[in-house]
Amino acid sequence: MEGITAPNTCKGCERDTAISEEQITRIINNMRPGMECVTDNVYEARLLACSQCDELMGGHTCSISGSIVRVRALAVNQNCPGYNGSRWQGTSLK
Ligand code: SF4
Repeated sequence: MEGITAPNTCKGCERDTAISEEQITRIINNMRPGMECVTDNVYEARLLACSQCDELMGGHTCSISGSIVRVRALAVNQNCPGYNGSRWQGTSLK
């Protein structure tokens, strides 16, 4: 798609939607103490599924849930909202 660039603003509120890996890491570090987290293996399996999913926007956000996948995938009580079922099958255990 040469010549076409994705906008960095939300269509609804026009806020900047760009987020850096450093900002995401800061969000995770702030949330982690109060969050029941999955194991590293489960986390990596979830993020691998997201990285191969057509619903991943900008390399960080799930277009179905609007969640930053690095944050969502960390939480034990979260799941993948895929239209054809969870792509995180078998990764809901801690
Ligand atoms: S639909 Fe599931 S696998 Fe795809 S980006 Fe969203 S959370 Fe990740």
